[in-house]
Amino acid sequence: MNVYDADRVRTVLCSRGWKEVEENEADLIMITGCSVRAKAEQKVWSELGLYESSWKKNQRPVVALTGCIAQRLGEKALNRFPYVRLVAGPRHIGLLPDAIEQVASRPKTRINLLDTDPREFHSLNFDSDNITIMRENKFKAYVTIAHGCDNFCTYCIVPYVRGRFVSRKPEEIFSEIEMLINDGVKEITLLGQNVNSYGKDIGLNFAWLLREVSRMEGIKRVRFVTSLPQDFTEEIINVMSTEKTVCPSLNLPVQSGSDRILKLMNRKYTMSEYHEKINLARQKIPGLGLTTDLIVGFPGETEEDYQDSLKALSEIKFDLVHSAAYSEREGTPAAVMPGALPVELRLERLTKLNELQDSITLEINKKLIGQEFEILVDGPAPKGENLLQGRTPSDKVVIFEGNKKLLGQFINVKITEAEAWCLHGEVKPLALKKRI
Ligand code: SF4
Repeated sequence: MNVYDADRVRTVLCSRGWKEVEENEADLIMITGCSVRAKAEQKVWSELGLYESSWKKNQRPVVALTGCIAQRLGEKALNRFPYVRLVAGPRHIGLLPDAIEQVASRPKTRINLLDTDPREFHSLNFDSDNITIMRENKFKAYVTIAHGCDNFCTYCIVPYVRGRFVSRKPEEIFSEIEMLINDGVKEITLLGQNVNSYGKDIGLNFAWLLREVSRMEGIKRVRFVTSLPQDFTEEIINVMSTEKTVCPSLNLPVQSGSDRILKLMNRKYTMSEYHEKINLARQKIPGLGLTTDLIVGFPGETEEDYQDSLKALSEIKFDLVHSAAYSEREGTPAAVMPGALPVELRLERLTKLNELQDSITLEINKKLIGQEFEILVDGPAPKGENLLQGRTPSDKVVIFEGNKKLLGQFINVKITEAEAWCLHGEVKPLALKKRI
């Protein structure tokens, strides 16, 4: 979400003559930070401290702090750091470009947008401006379909810092996607805290939107993230199984394997309902890549609850688990629940759970050796010369040797080796011949 927001602000600023430069040359630093976990917040806080000595020496750079961390801690940052000149939350993104220009042109100005009409979403409107959004990846792009969340899971800060749920108008979404397709994007990921709730405030639904997007001219691949199990319907599964451009990949955060903890988390589904949904999805969508999010060490989590989570992993066999040790978020109900676990125990549980999941992922990935997949080549691999990477439809990373001319193309690769975090493959010669 924050990457997406930052890209949009960067685009507007560059269209007004700003230039992105190395950090040490900058007059203005814009930090768009996350507050979902304590660790992410600590990172931003230490980043803010880095500009202290330069500010004391040269009175530059000035800093704009945005994103959900600013909504939570912006006031504190303004008081603590003299060079933080602008704070704005995720709902104020449309006001940022003008505010940034003001603080940059008048060095003593300090702007606090946090209290600016928090019920409204001040959005950047690209529809009328004919601007192409700058992004890191040329071939893949996120498109936000909804902002905020109404679910109030007891551990989560999002509804407090990103506000209540608001769907974007379908015509805005379609025109942004059209613009991205015209700019060479092959894969679109629809983005929201809970995409499945899309449309409930404007008389539409996510299955409809997914179908419409998947049939847009020029679209090659569609993904979406992330879904809430109770809102993940059979209708969505049907769209995934019938529309060729919708990738067979699904992130369905389970959060715990224990019904008792799910209730404390206010997750509104049981493990048996969760099993029913994924069984149906696996039955209807061949080759489905299934990932999840899971928290260990929630307040009051007993050894038995924890074992239920391990059991869920062993039974379901997710392709990947985004796991985290519970961290208190001030202002949420869980932060004051009785039964807080010692941090060491949370981390111990996390380590063991990750070991179990790594072995499951490796086992799943090894079964793919020898199989062929169509992948979208989306960039150079992080390590190794002449190595490129791409993703299978089920969202597995594949690394292979290849010419940079393949970037942005769909090619077939045969899997030759498997690790827990990625697959290795070789380009099928026929595909090479056909595509180059
Ligand atoms: Fe947070 Fe997701 Fe729950 Fe919304 S659905 S409150 S974003 S965890």
